[in-house]
Amino acid sequence: MFNLILFGPPGSGKGTQSEKLIDRYGLKHLSTGDLLRSEIARQSALGLEAKKVMDKGQLVPDEVVIGMISSALDQNPDVNGFLFDGFPRTSAQAEALDKLLEHRQAPISVMIALDVSEEELVKRLMKRGETSGRSDDTNEQVIRSRITEYHNKTAAVADHYQKFDKVKMIAGEGSIEEIFACICIEIDLRKLQQT
Ligand code: AMP
Repeated sequence: MFNLILFGPPGSGKGTQSEKLIDRYGLKHLSTGDLLRSEIARQSALGLEAKKVMDKGQLVPDEVVIGMISSALDQNPDVNGFLFDGFPRTSAQAEALDKLLEHRQAPISVMIALDVSEEELVKRLMKRGETSGRSDDTNEQVIRSRITEYHNKTAAVADHYQKFDKVKMIAGEGSIEEIFACICIEIDLRKLQQT
């Protein structure tokens, strides 16, 4: 089993690269942002609570997203591997994920971290806001709060996986194809090491 975390600040291209990666490697895509947006779309109690936090550019509580990931893992027992996108975002989430995967004897194989400058992120997110229909992409203040949350809480997740030599930093500025090619080289290398 090959379990990948695609890591990076909002706007770093995780969604775009995820689509290409699941196609190439047949992984099951788990995006906590997508799972939360589908809860909002069906107006569940969880979705309505989460929306208030998401609209401020803050993180929803750890137990909510950990619960969602835990059920998603249970619902997909027979996959080649998972691509985690937007999760884990805090050290507590990383520790919880490691425990959940330990039970399945399928630890994280690699974390690919996309590196993009803050000004480029704001530019991309404002542009995405013109078409994405995402309320958290239209307001520059909210966008900057999301980037601040990333630096305050999420960057530590990379330190967690660095301890196990599982982090590969990749420049996230350039063409989609160039970035994809760099990610694939790293995945293929790690897959070889795993066999
Ligand atoms: P994303 O689509 O990954 O940019 O996530 C959009 C928003 O959903 C974030 O700004 C958070 O409010 C919330 N969210 C998504 N994933 C997580 C997570 N792992 N932990 C906490 N909040 C999350």
